[in-house]
Amino acid sequence: MIKTAMQAFISDRIDDFVNDLETLVNIDSSSDNLAGIDAVARFFVRRLEAMGFSTCLEKRGDRGVPCLQAHNRPLTETFDILFLGHMDTVFPPGEVQKRPFSKHGDRAGGPGVCDMKGGLLVALYVLETLHHGGVLNQLSMGVCFNGDEEVGSKASREWIEANAVNSRRVFVFEPCRPGHRFVLQRKGGGGYRITARGTSAHAGVEPEKGANAAVEIAHQTIAVQRFNQQADEGVSAHVTVIRGGERTNIIPDEARASVDVRVASKRQVAPVESFFKSLPANTHVPGVTLSVNGGVDRPPMESDDRTLELWRLIAAEAARMGLKVAWIATGGCSDGNFASALGVPTIDGMGLVGGNAHRQDEYVELNSIVPQIRLIASVCQSIAQDKRSSLQAS
Ligand SMILES: [Zn+2]
Repeated sequence: MIKTAMQAFISDRIDDFVNDLETLVNIDSSSDNLAGIDAVARFFVRRLEAMGFSTCLEKRGDRGVPCLQAHNRPLTETFDILFLGHMDTVFPPGEVQKRPFSKHGDRAGGPGVCDMKGGLLVALYVLETLHHGGVLNQLSMGVCFNGDEEVGSKASREWIEANAVNSRRVFVFEPCRPGHRFVLQRKGGGGYRITARGTSAHAGVEPEKGANAAVEIAHQTIAVQRFNQQADEGVSAHVTVIRGGERTNIIPDEARASVDVRVASKRQVAPVESFFKSLPANTHVPGVTLSVNGGVDRPPMESDDRTLELWRLIAAEAARMGLKVAWIATGGCSDGNFASALGVPTIDGMGLVGGNAHRQDEYVELNSIVPQIRLIASVCQSIAQDKRSSLQAS
């Protein structure tokens, strides 16, 4: 059970939390607003350094995406827990001016309030609680907040993986689902682009001289749909964007289709890849050639035995608090997919309870602030206790 001093510390700080949430939500930090992401990072740098963390705010990739790493012990030590989160939001610059942070009853709204500025703050408040209770120094903690999760984490993926592989467990602070449901499984996914190239011709005068790329893409769309219907449970492939043709009286010489692909387990990746690889050999329109690019670039997040063991610890702490919790599987990806694929037990949904992510009516439940911080702090405390007793035993 969590120390009484820590419990009081959490409930005394609810107004601070809401004020901090307002500050963070009111910083525009869409994935392309690097200055905004940097401002969010600096907020956390100040608070983490005040607890004695070493911080490193890097600019990663060609675009210079701000990524914040922090740790409270020498980096030669494996992290007992890595806290993972993203500082970017899906909302375009200017969104904050249009609809800043707001509070109505026991809910708060604003761009990124639930996905995932509320979650980043839960992570920070858990660490501050552990610091206050004298527990932080018993644990080796890592923090990784990137700035490009909403655009596929291209600049930060390797950095996340390098930190995750140096961790015993990973907590991801994406939103907790209504009903206090965490996320233990996520589908993996990726995308393919099918390009058909034929020959253009006047559609009215000499169509026989053309090879219609759009017709070929239509055939391929149906082939993808058939694959989707026959695929294993957990696999999906959907044509989502089709483009082709320039003018209404010209047979198009080029057309393209984009396909969204999801898989629930690693063994489902190979059949998907071989299906898409087989397409160029199966064209339908004479004179049209096909090329296929892409792949499954996000591995699925699967819950192995060690993940379930970690979950049982969380559920036991929740039960002790009288809090009902559960876990779900979802189709959406997060950076938790990368950590989990490395075999590191990963629990997602550690943020505030909320919903409608990526929408104007996104919200968080303010009455989830205290229980969520308490639960995660007590889980961390129990991990610290286990660590101490195993050190004494050895
Ligand atoms: Zn998110």
